[in-house]
Amino acid sequence: MAGFKVRSVLVTGANRGIGLELVKQFLEKSNPPEWIFATCQDPEGERAQQLKNLVSRHPNLAIVALEATDPASIKAAATRVEEHLKSSGLNLLINNAGIVRPSTLESETPEDMSLVYATNVTGLLLVSQAFLPLLKKAAQGTPKPGLSCSKAAIVNISSECGSIANLIAWELVEVVSYRCSKAALNMLTKCQSLGYEGDGILSIAVHPGWVQTDMGSTGSHQAPLTVDVSVQGILNVLPTLSKKDNGAFVNWEGKVLPW
Ligand code: NDP
Repeated sequence: MAGFKVRSVLVTGANRGIGLELVKQFLEKSNPPEWIFATCQDPEGERAQQLKNLVSRHPNLAIVALEATDPASIKAAATRVEEHLKSSGLNLLINNAGIVRPSTLESETPEDMSLVYATNVTGLLLVSQAFLPLLKKAAQGTPKPGLSCSKAAIVNISSECGSIANLIAWELVEVVSYRCSKAALNMLTKCQSLGYEGDGILSIAVHPGWVQTDMGSTGSHQAPLTVDVSVQGILNVLPTLSKKDNGAFVNWEGKVLPW
């Protein structure tokens, strides 16, 4: 971790929860990125207040508007980031934004199936497509062989809830639309790993654990992991990733999870 240097990183859904903590821990590193792009749906609104407080103390942090279900917003975000980066590329894209809707098999609705898929799967696809030219540029600008998160990488924040083989916590939360979306996101990650390896871009799906955020606290049970521990774990795993991990599904401790 100590020697892990990422020149530029973008985190979606960065105004609260795991996304905000990722931004904070990147800023606190002894060798922080030259650019951290924190995206949120409404940079002017109250929900972005914690990010705005950070920007006033960290000139390497930029807040960028990005609504994951709006292709125009995603394209505008990519343009904005490119303006900041000038001639260099984006090294690390962390697709963190996501939603869950409470549901059971009986209560699940077409509306929530569509909304959750649009946010958790299509949104991540579109964000990755929009930032692909900048990721390619970062890969081309890094002389190191192989794949790594400091060169160019797409990190999709997934969930073990989407693991078909390890179907965790079914008795606690059925969240059918969410589980289906994360299983699809895992497949998207695998596809990205095949499609982008030749461009020097690593793709990986990461389960952050069951974390004490707004999302992690929706059920009646207390999530075991603090956001601080989850994100520390993720930031310890990222530097260890290489070509052999391309297209894998791992948790915040780096353990490989079954699909
Ligand atoms: P939170 O609900 O705390 O935060 C979600 C973030 O995503 C917010 O910043 C939210 O923005 C943003 N977001 C939601 N919808 C959109 C959208 N349409 N466009 C742009 N941004 C959006 O969740 P967590 O921090 O807990 O979760 C982060 C990721 O980790 C998610 O992908 C989640 O599925 C995954 N995860 C979380 C677990 C947990 O236990 N917490 C377990 C496993 C996976 P806004 O504030 O504007 O709504």
